[in-house]
Amino acid sequence: MPGTRLPLYRDDAVVLRVQKLGESDRIITLLSRRHGRVRAAAKGIRRTQSRFGARLEPFGHVDVQIAGDPRDAHRPLHTIRQVDSIELYGDRLARDYPRYTAASAVVETAERLTPVEYEPSLRLFQLTLGALRALAAAEHAGSLVLDAYLLRVMANAGWAPALAECAVCGTPGRHAAFSIAAGGSVCADCRPPGSTHPAPSTVELMLALLAGDWRIADASDPSHRRECSGLVAAHLQWHLERGLRSLPLVDRTSGGSPIPAT
Ligand SMILES: [Zn+2]
Repeated sequence: MPGTRLPLYRDDAVVLRVQKLGESDRIITLLSRRHGRVRAAAKGIRRTQSRFGARLEPFGHVDVQIAGDPRDAHRPLHTIRQVDSIELYGDRLARDYPRYTAASAVVETAERLTPVEYEPSLRLFQLTLGALRALAAAEHAGSLVLDAYLLRVMANAGWAPALAECAVCGTPGRHAAFSIAAGGSVCADCRPPGSTHPAPSTVELMLALLAGDWRIADASDPSHRRECSGLVAAHLQWHLERGLRSLPLVDRTSGGSPIPAT
């Protein structure tokens, strides 16, 4: 509102998404360290003399100063006032298509895992930044970095697939069957119809990625990597769809109490 002095806040953040807003402005979706996911307008970004330059591109790690009040739930769109680059990964990632697609999956997942703005998750921020940095550094195969990221953010959200115990009864050990709907590995007694039987080395790879054991992960066989990616993607999809379906039932304006379905 003109004439109103908006408070300023500062944070470091990863640029998740950039959308057009009119001719020269952009809406930037950020995952910030201390404020969670933030959407803010960047004005005049297409002008040649823009003070933002190339700093507000996807995958960049930036230090931002934003005008707006994070505590105001009905706030107008916040405005980015200043940006300093910490490390811009976009250029390096754009030169390698598989890594670029992996990075795109990382930022898309980060956005879907933060349906509500201004709910900070330091762990999600660190994992997202770490995955983009690892993809840009090209030390490991892009698909492995992506799957490690997805397994860890699922663990952070509390729904990583069970790998070293039965997802249903909790009996410890490696079980041959795997069921997305049941939540991961399942023992012979709990195995639902339609369970798959991944190679033991695939489950080994998933455990290594979850634990950050790159010695095992880097030495893994391409067929096990493919099977791992399929299981991780299916597990993520299953939970995201169920999670998103449940969202409209939650009232987010009054402290999260459920609204009766009408
Ligand atoms: Zn069981």
